[in-house]
Amino acid sequence: MSITQRCKQLLLSDALAFLAAIAAGSMIFITNSYLDLDIAPTLFYITLVFMSANIFSVPVFLTVALSCIAMLSASFVVEEGYRDHRLIAGFVRCLIALTTITLLALRSKRATDRLRRKEALFLGAQKLSHTGSIGFTFDDKETVWWSDETTRIFEYPMDVTPTTTMIRARTHPEDLSIVESVFEQAARKENLIEVEHRLLMPDGRIKHVQMIANPLSNQGGRLEYVGALMDVTASRQSEEALFHSQAKLAHVTRVTSMGELAASIAHEINQPLAAVITSGESCKRWINRPEPNLEEARRSLDRIIQNSTRASKVIACIRALSRQSDVQRKAEVFDEIVSDSLTLMQHDTANHQVRPNVHLGAAGAYVKGDRVQLQQVIINLIINACQAMTNVHDRARTLRIHTSVQDHEVVLEVADTGTGIAEDILPSLFDPFFTTKHNGLGMGLSICRSIIEFHGGRIWVSSTVGVGTQFLFAIPLTALRHDQ
Ligand code: ADP
Repeated sequence: MSITQRCKQLLLSDALAFLAAIAAGSMIFITNSYLDLDIAPTLFYITLVFMSANIFSVPVFLTVALSCIAMLSASFVVEEGYRDHRLIAGFVRCLIALTTITLLALRSKRATDRLRRKEALFLGAQKLSHTGSIGFTFDDKETVWWSDETTRIFEYPMDVTPTTTMIRARTHPEDLSIVESVFEQAARKENLIEVEHRLLMPDGRIKHVQMIANPLSNQGGRLEYVGALMDVTASRQSEEALFHSQAKLAHVTRVTSMGELAASIAHEINQPLAAVITSGESCKRWINRPEPNLEEARRSLDRIIQNSTRASKVIACIRALSRQSDVQRKAEVFDEIVSDSLTLMQHDTANHQVRPNVHLGAAGAYVKGDRVQLQQVIINLIINACQAMTNVHDRARTLRIHTSVQDHEVVLEVADTGTGIAEDILPSLFDPFFTTKHNGLGMGLSICRSIIEFHGGRIWVSSTVGVGTQFLFAIPLTALRHDQ
């Protein structure tokens, strides 16, 4: 039942109470006129005081109440009640009763007014924050009630009585299981119910709502849940927009690093192509002999196939990195993502005279994620590590790349023996546009962090100036399969 309906019901019951009070007051007054009882007019005044407390503002109510006290006193004086000590005692009793009732009515009126103000504020806040109230019971009979704001969120007419069927009807078909789980949790009488799901409006619009409900009372086995339902569509839409702009930015920086890697990429493709040509020529020679050596020719063909496969793999990696595709979350073998990134970086590390120390120790570990985005993170960390070692001449330039499974996460470590990072700039490292390079953009690590966080993981760094830097990231492990 909506709050408006409840208010209408309350008004109706107030009106009935008012009529009843009038009737009772009149009867007492009539009785008093005939039987000359001192208490009856007081009851009539009390009724009047109660009525005016309900209807009027505080000053008007006080005027009415004081007038009643004055009239009671006036009739006592006019009827010369002070001559009879029994009437004096009766008058004092009535005066005390009327004054006490006036004070009590005043107190309750103030409390009611405060409550009404709070309710108005509450309803206003609900409207502004797009948060409605919702309550339900799920025992022998399913009952639902909600506030006007919830009616607005569900976009139902204000005067309809809510039902679970109405909730289901507005729920996005793909999220029906979430809503069913709420009903199941309520039936199991669970303590806190918290969900986020989508609504599908009749005109095709999608809304995102968040609901949190707590059990209110458990009397005689009946458990009533009361909670709040918030329309979070706007914030979800801005998150999505932010995510898309981040993805675009990530694409731009990816393409930029592709430019930086052009020489390595050319080399990576050139090498297998040269091997293809050499093997093709020797194959021809083996066949053109007066007595063709088919075994050697077959070996040459195998080398051709091997090298062409390698070249096409490199091209596939580059195409994937430079393509602006929507983010995809698929089950991927983590070590494969790392080794594919290393394939692209081989020449670059060699150019920087960096000795890679690779240990892929997460065999069979699957992560759910976007392969291209994760490759971007790894490539960025490797580029930074190589650049940090450019000016190192007094020790070996070692790039340590280790993967491992720790608890329920896969961890990648990219460590270098470069210049290291001063302690005071460590906290700013992941800030957008933070760079210490004269031609740096300062977006690499910031994008790395948002990609890792998007994958539900975390990235961190430790460094010692003059010794080297260690970047690590961990993302949730989705499966560990040793059969493949
Ligand atoms: P950019 O490379 O364009 O400067 P990044 O966000 O990738 O942007 O890096 C930000 C800064 O972090 C770099 O300018 C550099 O000072 C520091 N940094 C990143 N990786 C390393 C590293 N491996 N060793 C030393 N400093 C690093």
